[in-house]
Amino acid sequence: MSETTTRPAVLILLGPPGAGKGTQARKLEESFGMVQLSTGDLLRAAVAAGTPAGMAAKAVMEAGGLVSDEIVLAILKDRMAEPDTARGVILDGFPRTPGQAEALDALLAEQDLAIGAAVSMEVDDAAMIQRVSGRYTCAGCGEGYHDAFKQPLEEGVCDKCGGTAFNRRADDNAETVGARLKAYHEQTAPLIAYYAGRDVLKTVDGMGPIAAIADDLGAIVKQVTA
Ligand code: AMP
Repeated sequence: MSETTTRPAVLILLGPPGAGKGTQARKLEESFGMVQLSTGDLLRAAVAAGTPAGMAAKAVMEAGGLVSDEIVLAILKDRMAEPDTARGVILDGFPRTPGQAEALDALLAEQDLAIGAAVSMEVDDAAMIQRVSGRYTCAGCGEGYHDAFKQPLEEGVCDKCGGTAFNRRADDNAETVGARLKAYHEQTAPLIAYYAGRDVLKTVDGMGPIAAIADDLGAIVKQVTA
């Protein structure tokens, strides 16, 4: 354990769409100064910028499928090369296939880094469709909201930054969520056994209050960085 003390922590968040990976990664950023690394966010930025990778990924993302490992790995490697990752990283939405998990192992080995923990956020699929279908974020600061569960205190005004523009993801609709859940169970869920076999798997109950889940994750971060 002590060998991880001087090296940045690498935490993987595993869970289906709507499990709360992004919400919790942002909380861990605030609490521990780690850096959230979301391949979904990086891909959406590539789509918005119209890069070749973004153009190749767009239709697959809209259909709820998985973008090729080649594209995702190239984007992730570039991001991992930025200096802020020395503060520790929370991988949100990556790896998503056994091939990506193996590529991550190789990438971390090159940098003399190790996975501190892979946390499986345990949730009910049925609730995920409702969670994902109603969610939206502040365009200014990224704070998350939900039509049924968490509206801003003042209608149309972000609680956190006062912004008045909000975004909804093109793939956050009931149909696409079904395809995304299927992709999760077929291609990503096997990683739970992969990380259990590597002795780095932790699980948290992802159905409780956001603050309680944040506490559970915070305890895991403290454990792996102690
Ligand atoms: P997310 O923001 O994690 O829900 O990802 C949104 C979409 O981006 C997914 O439905 C995939 O189409 C794509 N995506 C994000 N991360 C990955 C990944 N690691 N591998 C393949 N596709 C990904």
